[in-house]
Amino acid sequence: MSTNETTPPANFIRQIINHDLKENKHNGKVATRFPPEPNGYLHIGHAKSICLNFGIAAEYQGTCNLRFDDTNPEKESIEYMESIERDVKWLGFEWSGLYHASDYFEQLYDYAVQLIKQGQAYVDSLSAEQIRAYRGTLTEPGKESPDRNRSIEENLDLFARMRAGEFADGQYVLRAKIDMASPNINMRDPAIYRIRRVHHHRTGDAWCIYPMYDYTHCISDALESITHSLCTLEFEDHRPLYDWVLEQLQTPSHPQQIEFARLQLEYTIVSKRKLNQLVMENHVHGWDDPRMPTIAGLRRAGFTPNAIRDFCERIGLTKQNSWIEMGVLEYCIREDLNENALRAMAVLQPLRIVIDNYPEGQTEQLEISNHPQRPELGKRNVPFSKVLLIEQDDFAKIPPPKYKRLVEGGEVRLRGSYVIKCNEVVEDAEGRVIELRCTYDPDTLGKNPEGRKVKGVIHWVSEQHAHPAEVRLYGRLFTVPNPDNEENFLDVINKDSLEILPDCRVEASLAEASPESRYQFERTGYFCLDAKDSGADRLVFNRTVTLRDGWVKD
Ligand code: ATP
Ligand code: MG
Repeated sequence: MSTNETTPPANFIRQIINHDLKENKHNGKVATRFPPEPNGYLHIGHAKSICLNFGIAAEYQGTCNLRFDDTNPEKESIEYMESIERDVKWLGFEWSGLYHASDYFEQLYDYAVQLIKQGQAYVDSLSAEQIRAYRGTLTEPGKESPDRNRSIEENLDLFARMRAGEFADGQYVLRAKIDMASPNINMRDPAIYRIRRVHHHRTGDAWCIYPMYDYTHCISDALESITHSLCTLEFEDHRPLYDWVLEQLQTPSHPQQIEFARLQLEYTIVSKRKLNQLVMENHVHGWDDPRMPTIAGLRRAGFTPNAIRDFCERIGLTKQNSWIEMGVLEYCIREDLNENALRAMAVLQPLRIVIDNYPEGQTEQLEISNHPQRPELGKRNVPFSKVLLIEQDDFAKIPPPKYKRLVEGGEVRLRGSYVIKCNEVVEDAEGRVIELRCTYDPDTLGKNPEGRKVKGVIHWVSEQHAHPAEVRLYGRLFTVPNPDNEENFLDVINKDSLEILPDCRVEASLAEASPESRYQFERTGYFCLDAKDSGADRLVFNRTVTLRDGWVKD
């Protein structure tokens, strides 16, 4: 997909809602929900769903619930639940109500009993394997289970005993009785309850049977009087089941399921299962590793809630799955940080320069503006003294053509400061440049030098005043745009996705930086103070994004 497709003013979901409001469907209300399973951290794909659900609610003065879809206790945890709440809030959204599918376990059970009483559910003793074999294929109808015509009384008795813990895990399942010949495989008597002795992070050991997703989801929506149940395209084939369950149960409300395309983002992965694998197998350093496409990872890398919301807006809503270029996300964060991040100077790979004609022991505080286009953001003092550090790259012994930085005998301007000239290059025994002897022109502060042009401007810090810092440069997590299409996505992990520069120096003012504050380091990129690894006397900065789109495809 091209990077600059704009969102149509009215996407297809808004059109449906506008239509429903006109017809006074759902009593003129709009109620949505964001229903994550707490089995991992939220990722950028979830952000799309969050922005959509909360955004629609806000736009129509409706409500949006956060509901944990916690029916799969083996994989779920309190840690995940808490991280999800934190991330949704951080993105800037407030839920109308906070619910859990597990809040409804008793009601879900009662509804299942009702289905049995209506002759629409039965307890089946077929094994999981047999059920699969009986299900048929896309071209062949399924086969009915011998248990399908069990009497209602017997079903009620067995289901009660399933709940009471009389049977082993997997010994029985409760299935909806729909149609084994349906062209839609989801309608071929899907399982709606299974026996699973697993401790649940909220209901503890109260239950040894758990309801299945498809059965739980529609009822949870109905119990919360959701009007529009927005979900991703893979649930399109499940919609008939969603509607079937609600129709049989005559629930007080019947929400409308509407599907939209999942976000797939190039050079990364948006599947909690695979992200979990990256974490568990230590391919990354946790869910909040800045290389991760998780909200926590993006946050730690320095992304802003604004940039993520802007991204979700830009990619728009469609009914077609497609891959979004990583450049779109990077564009959004660059736009935001270019406008809002304070400027600062940091030297990532320092080279020492001595200003021979500057008095020993003298320090000058130079006032430099925090943002070139926004004077209201003020100025800061940057100390200048005899010994400075510049970037190793900003000096060349043998300059390539058109090189505008420092060379032996040449001049360059230090950003916000004076013009200096390099007079002598000091090398060690191996011929490595270890120091430059320079002079400065005292008459060039804030003005051009007399009678000559100096083109290059480089950044610098004062050696004595600068603070040591570790800077972490992050690259893409995968070497190919569509890692999901690989046989094994682990084969295409980018081994060079993290470069640590342990010996950087940042300007004095950054000693006061607060965790998660974001800066444009002049000429090197956008960076964020790492909240986790920085300490009282340790500054760690993560690179959020480079200044320009320098990514070259292979
Ligand atoms: P995953 O495969 O990563 O676990 P999921 O869909 O199983 O994703 P849920 O926790 O069930 O994860 O998702 C909560 C909501 O977020 C669902 O409504 C789901 O449709 C939506 N969602 C998940 N991934 C994406 C995505 N990539 N793009 C858009 N919406 C998504
Ligand atoms: Mg899921």
